[in-house]
Amino acid sequence: MLPPFVFEPLLKRIRWGGRRLGSLLQKPIGDGNDYAESWEIADHGDDQSRVTGGQFAGFTLRQLMQAYPLELLGAQAEMPQFPLLIKFLDANDWLSLQVHPDDKLARRYAPHENGKTEAWVILDAQPDSRICAGLKSGVDAAALQEGLQSGHIEDLLHMIPVKSGDCVFVPAGTVHAIGPGILLAEVQQQSNLTFRLHDWGRVDANGQPREIHVEQSIECTDFVRGPVSPVPPVTLCDQNHIFEELVRCEYFVIRRHRALERFTIPVLDQFRILMFVEGNAVVRTGGGTVSARLGTTVLIPAESSSIEIRPNCGLQVLEILCPK
Ligand SMILES: [Zn+2]
Repeated sequence: MLPPFVFEPLLKRIRWGGRRLGSLLQKPIGDGNDYAESWEIADHGDDQSRVTGGQFAGFTLRQLMQAYPLELLGAQAEMPQFPLLIKFLDANDWLSLQVHPDDKLARRYAPHENGKTEAWVILDAQPDSRICAGLKSGVDAAALQEGLQSGHIEDLLHMIPVKSGDCVFVPAGTVHAIGPGILLAEVQQQSNLTFRLHDWGRVDANGQPREIHVEQSIECTDFVRGPVSPVPPVTLCDQNHIFEELVRCEYFVIRRHRALERFTIPVLDQFRILMFVEGNAVVRTGGGTVSARLGTTVLIPAESSSIEIRPNCGLQVLEILCPK
């Protein structure tokens, strides 16, 4: 039986990054102050997650999918590409104001690209941290265009404070930006298609602004969405174990388990992803055992009948799966 897999993080350095991927999540960063994203599970072009250790060390996620489709993916064995991109992200400055297309629009811009619906679970936030989550009520395409031209775009944005534990669901078409001081776990469709509306007047090292995509952004924006707020978690219970469902959408489900004692998660012929966001634990399936700590992401193959999780102390883990 396939073991639980841990992959080498793919670290992305971008000017808005920081050092918390190393200092808090124990990723292998160097000396810089711009470690922005750790791609934990990726199957996107040249960005291929590789298994860290054990019998499958060095295998890419795509190679595992091709060699063991049924064992790894179960009922979803036909998938040509892994459907989710899983990241940790450390924002030390504002990210650009952006929007992502849905599947239909994405394929018009890039035939092999997917739309991008995403969700964030905030792991750490400085006291005055804010995000932009959607437009204020009533902002239409004409108002957005006018705001971009006149430089008054910030008046049109729904800016809200966030704190550790908040979850924000950002469907394709939602205008958004992540502000400084925020460390988060991100679950998204396997896509890297982003249109930038505004970059807060910044320039790069050569004095040049980054490219802005006004026309595409307006085309991709869902003007019906309006302001977005953190999701209210839904409490569920399974075999006497209580957990929360944070997001359930067409592309993924995110659950949060908090535990002090051993519990199990049924697997049901689909892969599971576990992101450990507090505490340490031992993860055991029929295929093997993994030690997990804050910042560890584990891919559990579909053929594992269940996952046993033994916390060493107060534990918080996100469970991510695709809806059937
Ligand atoms: Zn985004």
